[in-house]
Amino acid sequence: MSIPSSIDVRPPNISKTKGSGKRLKGGMELAMEEKEKQRRTCSMCGKKEKHNKRSCPMLKEMFFGSSLM
Ligand SMILES: [Zn+2]
Repeated sequence: MSIPSSIDVRPPNISKTKGSGKRLKGGMELAMEEKEKQRRTCSMCGKKEKHNKRSCPMLKEMFFGSSLM
């Protein structure tokens, strides 16, 4: 049996990993930008309403007006 006379005492090699703070941009901002209000302008009356030129009230008026002549 041999007893180690000198114990090698070394400081623990602690390697600090820098740059572990990850910051991801929330998708909320991106979604907000992409969620731009898609306004459709009616090509019939040119009004920004929820109808299109096919369901434009103006078309009805015109149709009835001309057919009722
Ligand atoms: Zn319209």
